[in-house]
Amino acid sequence: MSRATYDVVVVGAGIVGAACADELARRGLRVAVIDRDSVGSGATSAGMGHIVVMSDSEAQFALTRYSQLLWRDLSPELPSEVEYQPCGTLWVAADEEEMAEVRRKDLYYRQRSVPVEVLDAATLARLEPNLRPGLAGALLVPEDAVLYPPCAARYLMELAKAKGAELHLGLSVSRIGQGRVLAGNREFSAGAIVNAGGAWASELMPEIDLRKRKGHLLITDRYAGYVRHALVELGYLKSVQSLTSDSVAFNVQPRITGQILIGSSRQYGAEATSVDSEILSRMLRRAQQYMPGLGELSAIRTWTGFRAATPDRVPYIGPWPEDKTIVLATGHEGLGITAALATGQLVADQLTGTKSRIPIEPYLPARIATERIHA
Ligand SMILES: Cc1cc2nc3c(=O)[nH]c(=O)nc-3n(C[C@H](O)[C@H](O)[C@H](O)COP(=O)(O)OP(=O)(O)OC[C@H]3O[C@@H](n4cnc5c(N)ncnc54)[C@H](O)[C@@H]3O)c2cc1C
Repeated sequence: MSRATYDVVVVGAGIVGAACADELARRGLRVAVIDRDSVGSGATSAGMGHIVVMSDSEAQFALTRYSQLLWRDLSPELPSEVEYQPCGTLWVAADEEEMAEVRRKDLYYRQRSVPVEVLDAATLARLEPNLRPGLAGALLVPEDAVLYPPCAARYLMELAKAKGAELHLGLSVSRIGQGRVLAGNREFSAGAIVNAGGAWASELMPEIDLRKRKGHLLITDRYAGYVRHALVELGYLKSVQSLTSDSVAFNVQPRITGQILIGSSRQYGAEATSVDSEILSRMLRRAQQYMPGLGELSAIRTWTGFRAATPDRVPYIGPWPEDKTIVLATGHEGLGITAALATGQLVADQLTGTKSRIPIEPYLPARIATERIHA
């Protein structure tokens, strides 16, 4: 059995693993990345690519805002195939009750210095003429963006490689711990192992509480200008927060190509990768309630992917208390594209003893161990 030694071995070459590898290599560490498939082949190739600041919890806000700004700083150097578009998000309110939520979100963001604007019904209709008439208004978050996640992951991995990181593809990791990574007939030794295995991270560590949350997406042919912002119904937040039932929400995104990405669904306990026609129809019916013309457009492809969901909807970022050679970087659920760059920073901070720009405590996996003791 061959053996190689690194400062850090990153398991998983999704967007989170790539961002960690890039930042660790930038800080001068000797890094290897291992993936059983190719770069960005997991949830990263299935995701929508919405870079979005969220306000569900302070922990989620801090991480997504930090990362949104990192993406913005990086954007001038992103190659065109990453398709970064600072198109902003419109959180769409269907009625007066949802306008109250728009105002609550508006206040929340303003108090935290995020630029936002409350739009009335007429302004919303002018900005997005293909939405149905009669909607109440929206909250515009102009610094949100969209990008094409697999190309973003490949770009980050290229940056990491240029700084000396080694990439091992087609190699399945079967065991990690005590500074050792076993992959096929190869063994890697490392001061630290970053588990960035996405929804599969718990295969290597069954003690972490991670559930697969399946999502469906559909992409249309090219209809330039049909959708101009990332559009999300405010009811999306209820869909995200539902811990039990299958849910769908209106969530559409423009691509630079003129294509429209239509989402999204959330299902626990659905392990098959196949498209479920019943949930797809529900999702499209919901989308047409907001944008009736979508039904006339031609669809090119539908697919599914798996988000890695934690019980408290906050990712696990930091050392695993029961084996400090393992650092977790997973559990980002529907926000891993957004949060990848900040995750890379937090992981690198932990491994180089650097104080992080945001408080790290809410993300530390130590909370899992505490929950297990109190269960
Ligand atoms: C339908 C859908 C829509 C989404 N939309 C958005 C969005 O708009 N914005 C947003 O921010 N996020 C979104 N997400 C979430 C986002 O896609 C994920 O959070 C993100 O891609 C997670 O990246 P990752 O690198 O952690 O995991 P992954 O991309 O899944 O990568 C994990 C990698 O680990 C490898 N791996 C796992 N186990 C092993 C092993 N034992 N040995 C070797 N390799 C292994 C896998 O092959 C894979 O390449 C969406 C997700 C879905 C499913």
